[in-house]
Amino acid sequence: GQGVAMVTAVAARLAAHRRLLEETLAPFRLTHEQLVAVQRQMREAMAKGLKGKPSSLRMLPTYVRATPDGSERGDFLALDLGGTNFRVLLVHVASGDVQITNQIYSIPEYMAQGSGQQLFDHIVDCIVDFQQKQGLSGQSLPLGFTFSFPCRQLGLDKGILMNWTKGFSASDCEGQDVVFLLREAIRRKKAVELNVVALVNDTVGTMMSCGYENPHCEVGLIVGTGTNACYMEELRNVTSVPGDSGRMCINMEWGAFGDDGSLGMLSTHFDARVDQASINPGRQRFEKMISGMYLGEIVRHILLHLTSLGVLFRGQHIQCLQTRDIFKTKFLSEIESDSLALRQVRAILEDLGLPLTSDDALMVLEVCQAVSRRAAQLCGAGVAAVVERIRENRDLEKLTVSVGVDGTLYKLHPHFSSLVAETVRELAPRCVVTFLQSKDGSGKGAALVTAVACRLAQMTRV
Ligand code: BGC
Ligand code: MG
Repeated sequence: GQGVAMVTAVAARLAAHRRLLEETLAPFRLTHEQLVAVQRQMREAMAKGLKGKPSSLRMLPTYVRATPDGSERGDFLALDLGGTNFRVLLVHVASGDVQITNQIYSIPEYMAQGSGQQLFDHIVDCIVDFQQKQGLSGQSLPLGFTFSFPCRQLGLDKGILMNWTKGFSASDCEGQDVVFLLREAIRRKKAVELNVVALVNDTVGTMMSCGYENPHCEVGLIVGTGTNACYMEELRNVTSVPGDSGRMCINMEWGAFGDDGSLGMLSTHFDARVDQASINPGRQRFEKMISGMYLGEIVRHILLHLTSLGVLFRGQHIQCLQTRDIFKTKFLSEIESDSLALRQVRAILEDLGLPLTSDDALMVLEVCQAVSRRAAQLCGAGVAAVVERIRENRDLEKLTVSVGVDGTLYKLHPHFSSLVAETVRELAPRCVVTFLQSKDGSGKGAALVTAVACRLAQMTRV
């Protein structure tokens, strides 16, 4: 009778919704072939970047040649700028043991996007505050500066900021040596004596801090606010640095991979929207598909689209979804962890005899899964390219290597890390890759780079 007709109509509507959801998410579901292609393109871009040919991968030399050997000693200051938080750290390095005291300071958006001078003055104010609180005033400790932005380094303590990323846009910094900018701010403030020894990318710091415990750690990976990787390359392959023997750590700046248009095939309407609304349109296209600053925004754009199709939230215009950044990336981690809540919803729907697809919560979950899965797989394809290159560099049948990893998304998301590992196993079967989560990677690493530099400097002095 009428009841049956109603149930049939509901079922038909749900089936239509499901189709629309699938159509929307289809471009996010990457095939094995697509991932192989990403890995191949990454390999090609790496090779070109190292030779100084046009490439979206800048493959920047870091002047880090040696990993810690355990004989480093002393107290060091470290700064960590460019992640979720700005931190000042005091790092005590003793035999095989590293102790850290740190304090988090905020960098308000008006400073990140204001004048460069104001930004660097603020950084120095924070250091002074930290020194006072720690009873370090008047001491000039060696300082390592973790600065997580692309810099063309001319030495360990000199690096030109190429461009800001991740929501920073402070004026008069691009094209400048950031160590000089820091020293100038120190001079203006007349308050402190600081000895800036090393400028370090967070990937490098992470690799170094894991390398302190594991000598096989020759790759650093960050999946946090932004994403990037570094690895140990044969010096003979690094065209811009003289010398043929030994290795040097290369900061790939893989967030910019695809900025020459080579990722065009993978980029969806939603990616394009997120890119257009960002403060650096056209740049960091790989990063915008992977990292914490952007995944929530991709999800939000998909939800808006599904709502406009009437698939979600009964097609009602939902004001809050219009607000930028309202859907935090940490929601993805939470929603994807919360299997129990969905099981409840599911049980209720099944009792009613309705297909599971009718539930908004389930659809939102599926959207989150599709977006984070693609991110993890792309990241895995990148790691696969890196470890395969290391293997071929060394002419090995089989490579055993560790990757030091840091970043909020990688650490907090319930499935991200296992998906990265799975993808690497599929794409680089001849490499045995272990992932090590670094604790305090970027700050501790900057101190270790500084410690190694001080050790080497002492060696040459005697
Ligand atoms: C920066 C990299 C950094 C990465 C992770 C990117 O936006 O360009 O230098 O390593 O974020 O923090
Ligand atoms: Mg960080």
